[in-house]
This record gives sequence, structure tokens and C-alpha cells, in this order.
Amino acid sequence: MKALVTRPGAIGSTHVADVPEATGDGVAIRVLEVGVCGTDREISHGHFGVAPDDESELVLGHELLGRVERDGHGFSRGDLVTAVVRRSCRHCLACSEGSPDSCLTGDYFERGITRLDGFACELVVEDPAQVVPIPRSLGPLGVLAEPASICERALRHARAIGTRQPWELQRALVLGAGAVGTLSTYLLRLAGLEVWTASLEPANDLVTACGAHYVALPGTPLSELGSFDLVIEAAGNAQLMADTLGLLRRSGVACLLGIDPRVQRVELDGRTIALDTILENRVLFGSVNAARQDWLAAVADLDRARELWPDELEQFVNLRVPLDRFEDAFAHRGGKATLVLAD
Ligand SMILES: [Zn+2]
Ligand SMILES: [Zn+2]
Repeated sequence: MKALVTRPGAIGSTHVADVPEATGDGVAIRVLEVGVCGTDREISHGHFGVAPDDESELVLGHELLGRVERDGHGFSRGDLVTAVVRRSCRHCLACSEGSPDSCLTGDYFERGITRLDGFACELVVEDPAQVVPIPRSLGPLGVLAEPASICERALRHARAIGTRQPWELQRALVLGAGAVGTLSTYLLRLAGLEVWTASLEPANDLVTACGAHYVALPGTPLSELGSFDLVIEAAGNAQLMADTLGLLRRSGVACLLGIDPRVQRVELDGRTIALDTILENRVLFGSVNAARQDWLAAVADLDRARELWPDELEQFVNLRVPLDRFEDAFAHRGGKATLVLAD
């Protein structure tokens, strides 16, 4: 069968290859579509990614939308599904308690990223415990479940941190309007918050359509927007990440989701960290990946968002190409691109 494979560490080695058909006991899933994101681009550029043991190549793809091939394991033929990305390291407390997203060893496996083949192939066989049902009403938007699960985990953790003391979550700022920034905006609007979303484009209809305020950077200084109970950094800019501490209200929580691997120093006013953060009980934390509960929340909330803003969510994925046009999908900016494997 056809698959998109790469040799981790080898720049530009990504190509479409013929690989052996997936076998084994589990849920056989016909892959319909696989979302592409910065993680795929970075693996393809040789920055990270690990092939399965005894293999030199890794099948890419961690954002799955698929259809169950036959009845069994609690699923019916034709069911739409996705699957959890990160799997247990099998030897830590967090993984043994069902939270590989909080793995304490770093020895976890991740579909399409770390030591497990991904979903960018025609057919996958998946452990039933890792399969997540997608409501038929959500349809092709189910391909957004993975990025939405990242946002759900961030919000779950932010709430857990915020509510360690009496807290009113009212005003939120999202930095960055890529898939994670925009999906975070939608989830915060679903929760009834006042939301400001800032990014570099002059305008962003997807953001304003759900009732959030759009802020075009760098024209508007963030300090003019007032302060926030929650700030989410999804732009992947280390200086902006440091700035989030100074944008918080009393008891405010800032969550970092973007990645910025550049070697650099960032600036922070000493009083922001050594005075305000203490006197105002502020928190800055990072979040990665998602637990199964976040996937379930993501799918349910995407379906609620679709009911409220159907036309807008339809525009979310704005490039769908076949597997052999993966380079176009990787080069795509300003929206979500997916690889289409079957109808
Ligand atoms: Zn991704
Ligand atoms: Zn672990």
C-alpha cells in the first residue's frame, strides 16, 4: 500500500513509498484524510522524529480521519474514527495511570512521530483502546480532532491551575492564529469567554466569525488590550512567551503551546517575574500532547462548534491534496492542509 515515509534525521528524505499492508488484530481503519502541521514539516526537515525499532523509515501522519473497515471491537463498519497519538512508555507512574501525555520518562511512543508508524497510508490497524469515535454529524471536520485535543488539554490544565484558588475566568488572549490558536479561540468562545486573538495577518475572518476580537500585530501593542485571566501562546515565539507573564491579571494563568527552538535570549522586566507574578499569584506553564479524555472533549466540542459556526469551520481546512502532493501541503500557510487518501 502507498504511504508517506521519511528517514528521520535525513533532510528532504520524505517520499511516497510502497509499504507492506497493515496486519494484526485490532480495528482496521481505512484512512480518509490526514492533517499536516508544523510537526510533520520539522520531522521532514530532519529536526526530530524516530523510526520504529529495527526500521530506518517512519510513516508520517498523526492527525487521522478514518473509516472502520469491518464490525468488531465495539465498532461498526463505516464508523468514522480518529486515534490517540501518544502511547504509554510502559514504565512510569503517569503512563500506568492512563496519562502518557504526562509521561515522566520521555520513553513514550507517538504515531507518526516517535517509534511508531503514522497514519499517512491507506490502511492502519489500531488498538481498540486508542480509537476515538467521531460523530457522523462532524464528518470531515473530524480531521481537526488532533489539534483540538492539544487545545483541550491546555484548557483543562489551565482550569486546574486557576481553580487551585478562587478564580473567575472571563478574559482570554490567544497569541497566534494557526490551527491551534484558532481552535483555542473557538473552544474559549464555546465556554463563553471574552476572547482576543492576535496574529500577524491584517485581518482574520475565522477568528471574528466566532465572536472573538482580532488583533493585528505588531500594529496594536498587546499592553493596550488590558490584562487577562488566561493567555495562550500558540505563535511559537519565545519572546512573546516571556511577555505573557506581564499580560496577566491577578491570579492569571499563561499557557505555552507554541514551540520556538531558536537559540536566543529573551527579555523580561525583573519586576514582572520577581514582583507582580508573586504578589498577584500568576502562573506560567507549558503543555504538550493530549490524554484520551482530551480527545473525547475535542470531538464533542468540535461538533458543538460546528452547530454554532458551520460555515466558518468548513473553511478551516483550505487545502486538500492527494498523497503525492505532500510538498504542497507542507508548504501551505494560512490555514490547514490535509492529505486525502480515500473518499
Ligand atoms: Zn499536528
Ligand atoms: Zn511514561
